[in-house]
Amino acid sequence: MTETRPLRPETIAAAHGVASDAAFGAIAPPLYLSSTYEFAGFEQPRVYDYGRAGNPTRDLLADALARLEGGGGAVVTASGMAALDLVVSQLPAGAGVIAPHDCYGGTMRLLKAREQLGQLSLQLVDQRDCDAVGAALAGSPDLLLIETPSNPLLRVVDIAALSAQAKAAGAAVAVDNTFLSPALQRPIALGADYVIHSTTKYLNGHSDVIGGAVIAADAGKAERLSHWANVVGCSGSPFDAWLTLRGLRTLFPRMHQQQLSAMVIAQMLDHHPAVSAVHYPGLAAHPDHALAARQQLGFGAMLSFELAGGVDAVKRLIAALRLFTFAESLGGVESLIVHPATMTHADMGDAARHVAGIGAGLLRVSVGLEAEKDLVEDLAAGLAVC
Ligand code: PLP
Repeated sequence: MTETRPLRPETIAAAHGVASDAAFGAIAPPLYLSSTYEFAGFEQPRVYDYGRAGNPTRDLLADALARLEGGGGAVVTASGMAALDLVVSQLPAGAGVIAPHDCYGGTMRLLKAREQLGQLSLQLVDQRDCDAVGAALAGSPDLLLIETPSNPLLRVVDIAALSAQAKAAGAAVAVDNTFLSPALQRPIALGADYVIHSTTKYLNGHSDVIGGAVIAADAGKAERLSHWANVVGCSGSPFDAWLTLRGLRTLFPRMHQQQLSAMVIAQMLDHHPAVSAVHYPGLAAHPDHALAARQQLGFGAMLSFELAGGVDAVKRLIAALRLFTFAESLGGVESLIVHPATMTHADMGDAARHVAGIGAGLLRVSVGLEAEKDLVEDLAAGLAVC
């Protein structure tokens, strides 16, 4: 692809690196698996010398992600958790970190574990509460971590407002953009310093890769992260990068179709007597609907809902469903349903789950690419036995 003018994000996703192979003119970018590279001569390394430090396939994915997020550079890591930890590892010893009180369970586990080791001081805050954020920022923390929409309750917080507040207090801002991807939300344009992804989810989109990425607004900070990824050895594998780049090609049409189905499903659930609450920012009644409409480029394909019949109803629904597979993870072409309290957020513990509002009757759904009517019929049939 030869570029003569700025390209739209859809084009970057579909075409970054296409037909860039100088050796044979391959349309699909080649997969370079080699772990090491021949030096041109004594003290003459080429562009790449060792696969942990750099790899052409991984770099192509990093460049595509940096362009999509509007960043100065990106690092592709072995998982979303490795991406989060890469950002945290840049902090000085004893640094202050503010994180959402209702973030992904693995994120909370990581931050609490690092706190227990004495490496950081963690404040878990309801980031919808400006006063609570202000009070936490008064302690001059080093990093504000945002996750919006949140996992699993789909709460939305104001990235621009929080970033401005954090900057004024001298804290860097990192946004976990896993739930929406750059197709539907671009945090750097809203003031974030770092965007974090579990590429395992929408960016790859086919549930066959565990991967992550950090995109830094500043090119120098991206360089530093890249250096550090080599130092600790958390770089992603070339094959995973190749698969993720392939998945990225269809990111926009997948997100488009999946969020259309999610809206229909959310509306159906909203009217169902067995359902006591639906959490989907696309619904006009969602408390953060106006903010999501302003901040996001779409409402996404994740939603959660609560069954009036509690955990017994959860068990009956799970057993009755045919199309929604009962499994962790999200963002793939297949629809998945998960019980956060016993699966993704089990490690949080009862007390933290209670504070976050994650109850026993809550189910989280990742809406896939199956026919929307089949999905609605499957859920309706399952809910009939709840
Ligand atoms: N961030 C969010 C919002 C997630 O949902 C997850 C995983 O579910 C992660 C980060 C961690 O990603 P990974 O499983 O690729 O390590």
